[in-house]
Formats: sequence, structure tokens, C-alpha cells
Amino acid sequence: MLTMWLISKHTIFTRKNYPVSTQELNWYEIDRFLMGEAWAGSQITKHLTELADVIGPRWGGSDEDRRAAKYIRSEMESAGLDRAEIEVFNLDSWNHGNVSISLPDDGDRPIGALPFLRCKPTDITAPLVDVGHGSPHEVSAFGDQIRGSVALTYIAPEPFTTAEPFTARIVRLSEAGAACIIAIESKTGGRMEYSNSDEWLNVGPQKDAVAVVKTSSEDGAYLRRIAGGTPRIAVSVEAEYFNTEAYNTVAEIEGATNPERHLILAGHHDTVLKAPGGNDNTSGTIGVMETARVMAALAAQQGIRPGLSIRFATWSGEEQHLQGARAYVARHYGSAASPREDKPLLNINLDELSTGHMKGIVLMFPHLRHFIQKHLDTMNDGLRCHVLAHMDAHSDHFPFVEEAIDASITWRWRFWGRHETANFHHEIGDAANKLNVRELKEYVGQLARLLLRLSQVAPEDWPENPVSVEDVQAMIERDAGKHHPAFHI
Ligand SMILES: [Zn+2]
Repeated sequence: MLTMWLISKHTIFTRKNYPVSTQELNWYEIDRFLMGEAWAGSQITKHLTELADVIGPRWGGSDEDRRAAKYIRSEMESAGLDRAEIEVFNLDSWNHGNVSISLPDDGDRPIGALPFLRCKPTDITAPLVDVGHGSPHEVSAFGDQIRGSVALTYIAPEPFTTAEPFTARIVRLSEAGAACIIAIESKTGGRMEYSNSDEWLNVGPQKDAVAVVKTSSEDGAYLRRIAGGTPRIAVSVEAEYFNTEAYNTVAEIEGATNPERHLILAGHHDTVLKAPGGNDNTSGTIGVMETARVMAALAAQQGIRPGLSIRFATWSGEEQHLQGARAYVARHYGSAASPREDKPLLNINLDELSTGHMKGIVLMFPHLRHFIQKHLDTMNDGLRCHVLAHMDAHSDHFPFVEEAIDASITWRWRFWGRHETANFHHEIGDAANKLNVRELKEYVGQLARLLLRLSQVAPEDWPENPVSVEDVQAMIERDAGKHHPAFHI
């Protein structure tokens, strides 16, 4: 017999005999179940061990990417989801071999070197020029001296002038003729994290930007001390571009009342090279898996299914320019291929969840703000719905945004208010211990509660989405190359 204690009265039965009522659900008992299951039934430690320790770094298209996808799919199946699949897509990938920075006239002093992601191969010996932060006044002061040189620059912007993202300063140095750029890491203690040299608001990875190689804060300071004598410096990067298969996973709980429409909770399971990605993004991957598990448990044990279908996806290739999410969106929601009715009503993207506890969600378009806030208020946890005032292309919500699909993120590392101790992503030190287990449990319970509430609203009762693909293009053009103050740099 079905346990009926979650349903007060006037229960209705759908074609699948699942009891559903949009009005009569006992949210107090449902919330107790979801938060309790997220906490007491947690599989976080098991998934963390498998993904971050046993499989380890999961560069998109690698064998580890495939193993992670197989693991996630099989765990989704065990959790009782209605379907759980791997979707293969073609990834435009990159890898590097030997990389070095050396001073031919300065003996064997070792200099830390890490190529930017998708850095093109280079092998150059040229004069070193210290261009400060690469600001307009600094670059113009050098006149033609930058042409053919190796330009040394901070990643952080100059604090005394209009802040620009590093990508804009790379373009300036490239246009000034720099043959190669050495970027000085902002973090100290020899740490170096992988960075990108191109503007992500431009669709697709670019291959022809000038070679950019990072050095550590300490080695960068040394190079600045000797740069006055314009020493010769040698930079070598072995790199190759290639195409390969990569692996997304998609699972679903079918909706009880409106199964033809869906919400999608997703996050990337790939990492940068060499990083197990405890924070970025084993945390978000497990957030997806665990939210799916507790919602499936509610359906199996208490007979409460979402009204709309809920899709749970993990993407590969995020670190290689969002290629996994973009492939999925193109295949299933591409403008030409599918009408608005086939697209999700909302994408919630999970990325780097160890940087702060659940504070709410941040929408990319404004029209759902009050609707979602109203549902958050019923959870009585002080969660807020915000709207980002600019286009953010730095995670997997963006391919949805490009198709004018409502998309959102949670409190990511970029925003002010993150934990100061959670300053790890894109580097070897982003290991399993960077995942905050207790906070992730809270995320899971809260996300399940929010998704279940939103799923109970019939599609025709959602605020209409007035945004067109052309509107999005205009917003992208407005924001490309600008620095945004909500972000850390
Ligand atoms: Zn990430």
C-alpha cells in the first residue's frame, strides 16, 4: 500500500497511478523527507571517492571522462530514475606536452610554467618586456618595443584605472605585436591555475590567439626584477589540437501531471588537466546526482513525483569552452530543430558549490524573479532570487542562455561572499578535500525542495519568456570584453 501521509486530502491519480495534487501536498512533510534524505541518506562521500580519488582528473574526451560518465549513469540508474543515458558528442580538444620558460643567459634557474588552456604551440627566444598590467597607458608607453617580444604582465588588472578582464589585455598585447605573453599568477606560494586566453562570450574555442603561458607569483616577481636589463627569455610549449569523443550523461524523473515539459538541473563532470576537481566540479556533479536521488526516493517511497519532468545532466567539455552543454543544447533544443514548448522552462546550473553555502539562485533573465522568489519564500530559509545584470559565459548555463532559455546559477566562486578558504579551482590543489560535504547536503535538500515546488506549476502558469535569440546576441555584444564588478578576478 502506498504511504499516504504526505498527502492530506483530495488526492488525484494520474494515468500512472501516482498520487498528485498541486494544492494538497503537505509541504511540511515533503520538506522533512527531502532534507532528511539529503542528510541521512547521503552518498556524497562515496561519489567523491570514486570521482575525485579513484578516477581522478577528468579532462573532457579522456578515458577518465568516459569512466566518470559510466559511473554517473549507473548510479542514476541505481537511484531509480526513469531513464539514465550517456550521450556521446564530438569534442574539439587540446593537450600539451613539454612546457618551459628559461633564461638562456641566467644559468639553470628554474621558472614555473603552465600553458593557458588551448595555448598554441610556441618555441621562441626573444627580449623580455615588463608591461605591468597591460593597461592602455602602459602598453602605449612602450611604443614599438613590444613587437616581437615576450610580454610579462600581471593577470590582475591595474587597480588605478578602468578594470578590464585579462582577455581584453591579451588582445591589446597581441595587437601590439607581442610574440608570446607570460602571465603572472595572482595566487602565491608557487600555485598556478589553468586559465583561458579568450573571451567566452564569443562562441567556440579560438586557436589562433597569441601563446600565453603562466608563471608563479614568485617567479613572476623575479622576472620583473631582472626585466629592466631586457634579458633574453625562451618559452617553449608543445601542444596539439585534435577531435575526440566525449561523454555527457542525462537522466530523468518523468513528471506526473505535465511530463512533456521539463526543468533541467545540470553541472559539468569534467575537470582541467591534472586536477581532481573537488570543488570544480565534483561538487556540482554530486549535487546533480544527489538531488536526483532524493527526488527519486520521494517518488518511490512516498509516491510524490514532480509535476513537470525533471532532467538531471552532467556535462563534459565545460573546461574546453562549454562544449558538452553546447552539444546537448544544439541536439535537443536548437532553434531550428525545436519549438519553445520542447525547451526546458528553467536550467539550474551547478558549478563550484564548495565556495559558499546555498544562498539562492541567480537568473540570467529577469522575468522569473518574482515567481521564483515566491516559491523560495515558502521554504522559509531566507533564500534569495537575484538577476545578473550582464551576460556570464563562464559556465554551462550559457549555451542555454544563447538559445534564450531561462537559466540560472547558484552562488559561484566569482561572487563576493565566497569562503576565503575555498579559493581552489583549475589547479592540482583542487582535490577531494576541497568539497564541503555538509554544505553540499544542504544544497541537495534545498534544490530538491525548489525543483519540486516549481514542477508543480503547470507550464501555462509560468511567466512567459519574452527573450529572443536576437535579444541575447545584443546583450552579448553589449558585454563582451568588459569587466563586471560582481565578480572576483
Ligand atoms: Zn566549473
